[in-house]
This record gives sequence, structure tokens and C-alpha cells, in this order.
Amino acid sequence: MDKLAINGGNAVRDTFLSYGKQSISEEDINFVSGVLRGDYLTTGPYVETFEEKIADYVGAKYAVAVCNGTAALHMACDAVGLKPGDEVIVSPLTFAASANCILYMGAKPVFADINPDTLNIDPLSIKSKITTRTKAIIPVHFSGNPADLDSIQCIARENQLHVIEDAAHALGATYKNTKIGALSDLTEFSFHPVKPITTGEGGIVTTNDDKLYKKMKLFRSHGITRDRSLINDKHGDWYYEQLSLGYNYRIPDINCALGISQLQRLDEFTKRRRQIAHMYDEKLCELGEIELPIRSSIGESSYHIYVIRLKLDYLTVGRRKIYDALRAENIGVNVHYIPVYYHPHYAALGYKKGLCKNAEESYERIITLPIHPSMDDNDVYDVINAVNKVIKKFRI
Ligand SMILES: *Cc1c(COP(=O)(O)O)cnc(C)c1O
Repeated sequence: MDKLAINGGNAVRDTFLSYGKQSISEEDINFVSGVLRGDYLTTGPYVETFEEKIADYVGAKYAVAVCNGTAALHMACDAVGLKPGDEVIVSPLTFAASANCILYMGAKPVFADINPDTLNIDPLSIKSKITTRTKAIIPVHFSGNPADLDSIQCIARENQLHVIEDAAHALGATYKNTKIGALSDLTEFSFHPVKPITTGEGGIVTTNDDKLYKKMKLFRSHGITRDRSLINDKHGDWYYEQLSLGYNYRIPDINCALGISQLQRLDEFTKRRRQIAHMYDEKLCELGEIELPIRSSIGESSYHIYVIRLKLDYLTVGRRKIYDALRAENIGVNVHYIPVYYHPHYAALGYKKGLCKNAEESYERIITLPIHPSMDDNDVYDVINAVNKVIKKFRI
């Protein structure tokens, strides 16, 4: 058997393959250059066009674009009127921003456990965490695989809660043949470079609700408006009013131009991600020492990430060693995610280990394999070969 790179053997490939990466075309570059020659750098016509195109793509009435996905989550939490003392139920197996946005409002994140099959938030656990202070649920579509929205919305209706979907992974994913983005009160997407499409940094919230939309537009830009229907208009044209406390979360026209150009390529990106996932499914299922992501029966994943789980009982080493060995083979594996409440900031707020058993158990054995649209078939085979090489070395 080939000697592992970590033990001084040859790596499966010469160059490092990262777990996620943007795909920028010459058309993208030309389109963005055009903005630099125009009149606007920050809020200009491309912001609105981008919002319209995203809203259109997901089938929502409105979209409000901001400078990143985290700001978008903050904006969504403000729109539903979270107050200090309120509780919001969220998954722990996610990026910290999914819960930080609750803290920004002075409200309290309450972690519900995940379903160990899908790694998505478990509706039964949500139910058990509801109190009189609960105001909202933030389901995260983990890896782009849709969460159980019907059950979540049913719980939300029964308890009069808002649903804010963290769909940072899920632009292009579908739930029961409908695009994610118009199924809840509010849906947030991120346009960070590893996400389904990129604007460099950027985020957006989609909604069908007129009131939430207007509130978000104010929040994005200081709470200030020039809309004559909203303000006391006995003044001249220079006049504007700050109606509430907002932030400067605006996204520049430059970024939105990139987003518009990228959006044209989204379906092609999603198709490629799904192809790669199917190649992994097909070639890695022979390895009894790992579990592959479960394909959802209620929707189609956008495969933002491809997360395998090690069956540690069948291996002679732990996740750390497998991770290091794959990295030495030049495969940029990663781990998504450290349970949010493990972080020192959350520990200091009083969250303790043992809170969500399934999330904690999964965390010990997850590894993210590279998946992004600019990977060619050889890249995919390198990952498959490296996983085979490493797992076979460490099987019992
Ligand atoms: C990326 C991400 C965010 C935040 O997005 P940014 O644009 O990086 O601020 C939020 N939630 C999840 C699950 C993410 O993966």
C-alpha cells in the first residue's frame, strides 16, 4: 500500500485543494470593471437590480442586500423585533454568526439539538425548548440540505413564532420542488467567496412581507429615510429623517455587479456541485468506515459542503489523525462546525457541554471534503483516492 504523505510518502496531489473556493470568469471581471468606470461605487443601480434578481430567482417579493451574511441575520433579527429577554431557538452545529445575531439584539440563543441523520435542527428538540419567552426559530440548512421546514413552520404557527432561515449554504437548494428563499418570514443568504455565489462580501434577506421589508431598508442605512410618505414633509428637498436606530450595513454597487454576473452562473455551479457530490456518493460508499451525507427526500441540496462522518469504532485513530493525514495528501479538508456553545464567549455566558448530545457526538467525527464548482474530475478523483488511501491505512 502507498505510504501516507504524513509518514513521508508522496502526496496524492502536488497542489493544495481547498474545501471551497469562488469561481470568477472573465465575464464577471468585465462586468465589475464597468461599475468602476461609472458614477456609483456604493449604493447605485446595481444594488437594486441585484435585489430584484435574487428575489426573482427564489420567488420572493422583496430582497434587501447588505454588506455580509452576518449583517443580514442581524437585520432579520431586528425586523422581527427581538428584545432583551427574548429567546430564539437555533442549531448549535453552525457558524457562530447564526447565534451571534441573537446576542446582537440582547436576546438569548437557545440551542436545540440536531437530527443525527441530517445534521439539521430537530423539530422535536425545538418543541422541547419552547418557553413563554421564545420569539423565533433560526433553522440552518446545514450544507445546503433543507431543514424540515414543514414541521418547523407548524411549530412556529402553533406558538406564534417567527422563522428566520439561515440559508447561507442554500441558495439554489429546493424544498419540495420550491427554491429556498420564500418559504418563511425571512430568509438570509451569504455571498462570502466559499458560498454558492459570491459578491466578495455580501448578504441578503428575502421576504414576502411588506412591513418587514420596509423595516429592513431602514435598518440597513442608519434608520434614515428620504421617503416622503414616511416623514414629516414640510421641509425642502435636502430633508431626511432618522426614524429608528440603524447601522451602515450597505453593500457597494461594485459587489452587487459581481453578484448579478455570478447569479447567471448559479445553476451551472449548483449542477457541478451536485455532480461532484454524486461522484463522492458513488465512489466512497464502498468504505465501511465512513458515513456519507444522507440525501434528503424532501428537497435537493445545493451541496455547499460535503460532510462525511468517521465510524470511529472501525478506525485505529481519531478524527484529528485522519484530518492531518488528508491535509498532508494536499486535500484541504475542514471541520464544519465546532458546536457554537463550545466557544469561550458562549461558555462565559453559561452554556455548558452536554447541552446537545447529537451535535456534540457528530462534531467528534465530521470531516468536510472539498467541493466547489471549479474542481475538475481529476480533483474529485484525488479526493476519492486520498480518502481511500488514508481510511484503508487506519482501518482496524
Ligand atoms: C457564512 C455563514 C454565515 C455568515 O455569512 P457572512 O457573509 O460570512 O457574514 C451565516 N451562517 C452560516 C451558516 C454561514 O455558513
